[in-house]
Amino acid sequence: MKKGKKLYEGKAKIIYATQDKDLVIQYFKDDATAFNNQKKSTIEGKGVLNNRISEHILSNLSQIGIQNHLVKRLNMREQVIKLVEIIPIEFVVRNVATGSLVKRLGIEDGTVLKEPLIEYCLKDDTLGDPLIAEEHIYAFEWANKKEIEQVKKMILRINDFMIGMFRGIGIKLIDFKLEFGRIKMNGKNEVILADEISPDTCRLWDSITEKKLDKDRFRKDLGDLIPAYTEVAKRLGILHEQSNVSAVNVTKLSSVKKKIK
Ligand code: UDP
Repeated sequence: MKKGKKLYEGKAKIIYATQDKDLVIQYFKDDATAFNNQKKSTIEGKGVLNNRISEHILSNLSQIGIQNHLVKRLNMREQVIKLVEIIPIEFVVRNVATGSLVKRLGIEDGTVLKEPLIEYCLKDDTLGDPLIAEEHIYAFEWANKKEIEQVKKMILRINDFMIGMFRGIGIKLIDFKLEFGRIKMNGKNEVILADEISPDTCRLWDSITEKKLDKDRFRKDLGDLIPAYTEVAKRLGILHEQSNVSAVNVTKLSSVKKKIK
């Protein structure tokens, strides 16, 4: 697969064209941002781990019938994905109240929700991704009712699957963010899961110790982000071939190999 020109650069990923107009390459950067871009850093090896973790979760979701953009992982940092028209909404799914929800509504941090809560945010960095109501989506035609009904069904299945998957490896799925995109498949317009699912986009707490194994380590200056993401990858069974090699070393090894070639 030949990498063409850069089509888009976001905070954590870059999208490149390929010779196939329907496919693009998604490159995972090591950049980390938080609080609407006010806090920025580069964490060596983060992109490698997110590429692997997201590939693992999306391919598992595809096996339970959740259509998504992943075609295949190409290498340590890149995956081939289907080109979609991203719906400009961030769908936040919550099982336990924390983060912006507790600040906004004064709910006690860690409150377990009786049912999963879906929140909608407009994908607009200049506005700071504001929280919106479902009615705003229809009023401004960011998506139609049929699309949102489809998305909601998918979200609840994704949440059930991911809660179980993480519970099995001793991790609580607190909340996460999903994005969806429009695509024409066999002449029909469909909505499929897009973007990434990784510790950058989920809150993951160790079931016993409640240790944070996600991007809150960066947001809250807790340190040890790479060991936490590596722990998630190892528990998911992704890093078994190199269980004693950290992702940072893997990155270094791959650049050494490139130089030797
Ligand atoms: N989230 C994300 N990208 C965003 C905003 C949120 O991936 O631009 C994820 C975040 O990692 C968390 C969930 O969505 O798992 C809920 O985030 P919250 O609104 O509490 O975000 P905060 O303002 O605390 O970052």
